[in-house]
Amino acid sequence: MSATGPGGATGVHRSGPATEASFGHGGSSVRVLPHTSGRSVAVIGVGYVGLPTAATLAHLGHRVTCGDADPAKIALLQGGRVPIVEEHLEDLVQEGQASGRLHFVVGATDAVAGAEFVFLCVPTPQAEDGSADLSYVEAVAEEIGPHLAPGTVIVNKSTVPVGSTLVVERVLGRHDVTVVSNPEFLREGTAVPDSLHPERIVVGAADQSAAARVGELFAGTHAPLLITDAATAETIKYASNAFLATKLSFVNAVAGLCEAVGADVRDVILGLGYDKRIGFEFLRPGPGWGGSCLPKDTRALVYIAEQAGYDFSFLRGAIATNEEQFVRVVDKVVRAVARTTAAPVERPAGDRLTGTVVAAWGLTFKAGTDDLRNSPAVEVVRRLVGEGATVQAFDPTVAVPAGAPSAPVTGLSSLAPPGTDDSWTASVRSFPDAYAACAGAAAVVVLTEWDEFRWLDFTTVRERLSAPVVVDARNLLDPSQLRRLGFDYTGIGRR
Ligand code: NAD
Repeated sequence: MSATGPGGATGVHRSGPATEASFGHGGSSVRVLPHTSGRSVAVIGVGYVGLPTAATLAHLGHRVTCGDADPAKIALLQGGRVPIVEEHLEDLVQEGQASGRLHFVVGATDAVAGAEFVFLCVPTPQAEDGSADLSYVEAVAEEIGPHLAPGTVIVNKSTVPVGSTLVVERVLGRHDVTVVSNPEFLREGTAVPDSLHPERIVVGAADQSAAARVGELFAGTHAPLLITDAATAETIKYASNAFLATKLSFVNAVAGLCEAVGADVRDVILGLGYDKRIGFEFLRPGPGWGGSCLPKDTRALVYIAEQAGYDFSFLRGAIATNEEQFVRVVDKVVRAVARTTAAPVERPAGDRLTGTVVAAWGLTFKAGTDDLRNSPAVEVVRRLVGEGATVQAFDPTVAVPAGAPSAPVTGLSSLAPPGTDDSWTASVRSFPDAYAACAGAAAVVVLTEWDEFRWLDFTTVRERLSAPVVVDARNLLDPSQLRRLGFDYTGIGRR
């Protein structure tokens, strides 16, 4: 294994004079390779990971062809539009297209023609048993195998279980190409600065010179490069996500403790975060963690560990704490509604919000993205409906047709846990703005930390609601301002 410090260069050699460019990171710059030293790269799968990766590689001076199985996505991209909400991404894609270094084609086969490096950025969803489903990765490997030039390096960027590099090698069926693991750490919402200025590049392979060549593709970012074996690189990705999930479960548990002992979690976090060994990052209580990665990756890691004979009970605990958090948020809504109801009736679980309209602000798993996959907001909404509520949602990225007072949320049924009944989706409608969602609702629950929610006119919000109840599952709002306006305010671990 070899590692370099920031800006260091073990295994990475930058050739020729570099040019400076600035993009989406507070004016700081990345070094762009001169056109002649760029490599020929294919990126398969232009989703939340593949597209920022491709646009970044083009920005760094490489010639990039992207292939995706979805013709509608490719048509949009060929016209310079991006199919997802991600700040700066459209500009970066258009820059790549204008430079002549970024192209989009339908399918993987055409994209890999003449490529020296092929990045696999296809989904690895959760299978029913909790393991990672490798079928997309295998399908692409099978498709491109016969079309690769000898000496091509296949770069696995999808999050895959330990040992998957060997699986891809087997499916490719080629002895003259090399497979390398290069896990991705970008965050949706900040994918462009994260890709242009990664905190580290990890490359794992048996063939260390192939790994170094992959690291060299990113030399312009000056990120520390860690070259290791494939199993270690694959483990780093899962361990990183497991740590982040654990940190969130920890702070949510601390918030629960704060409520029990009468402490204020925001000050507790301040007191914790100044300790450099702890830090402030990822210490924000919320409605539970989710998104397209943490839930599936933590479950996959528990599965991987089990298969290898290690009982990762510690991680199972973090997952269980997360499940509890969804319940805690729903309980807060139930209790707050009961407090403001003239003669509250004791109802059994599953019926505690029957006949109650609840407004939900936010559906995406975090602010800055349109991604609803495994969103904790959606999970809380599903559980509110499970208690009998009707939910009026607003999310800045969920469109309602012009002129329509409300609309169903497209694709909501696909977001329920596999095997669950999706009839709950009929009780959820999306509204065109945050005020409209509050009309006649007995409470509003803040589920995604969209900044615009902080700046609403809460006198108008109060007028729209049938009772002045706010459950702030993101600790986004100002409790004293709301209480002054007569709201019953509940946060997470907050007085
Ligand atoms: P995504 O669903 O947004 O994108 C995947 C793309 O692959 C889609 O556009 C799909 O059409 C395409 N695709 C599927 N099968 C294909 C095929 N046979 N040929 C060509 N294209 C095909 O997924 P994503 O969020 O970008 O995730 C991709 C991988 O990266 C996953 O393994 C994920 O765990 C990992 N990852 C995701 C994130 C994140 O924040 N989303 C971060 C780090 C790692």
